[in-house]
Amino acid sequence: MSANCLFCKIAAKQIPSKIVYEDPDLFAFEDISPQAPTHILLCPRKHFESLTDASPEDQAILGKLQLVASQLARERNLLEGYRTVLNNGPGAGQSVFHLHLHLLGGRPFRWPPG
Ligand code: AMP
Ligand code: ZN
Repeated sequence: MSANCLFCKIAAKQIPSKIVYEDPDLFAFEDISPQAPTHILLCPRKHFESLTDASPEDQAILGKLQLVASQLARERNLLEGYRTVLNNGPGAGQSVFHLHLHLLGGRPFRWPPG
């Protein structure tokens, strides 16, 4: 856990959230400001700031984030499609510096993203 990290505090249940999935490796919760009918954030329990800070030992958890996102999408019947997004760095819109994968679904998405 990293001091003063919002998502570490959510993992530790020091800050309330709507947790939708957790296991020893990762946790997932509803985004407080949803950008789609389904908007879930999936985080490794291990604190690292961004994809740039990930190392080869993080290979499994990075894959697992995507696989659990797919499982949650299936459970929520996001049959028309869904999007997983990882904003990396302030220039890409990252605002919380504990790596997280957005799972968005339940509405059409355009390409390219803004
Ligand atoms: P990003 O901009 O990619 O770093 O994503 C950060 C996300 O965290 C945003 O979509 C925020 O709405 C979300 N967020 C910020 N604070 C909270 C919170 N306390 N609980 C749930 N989601 C949050
Ligand atoms: Zn953290």
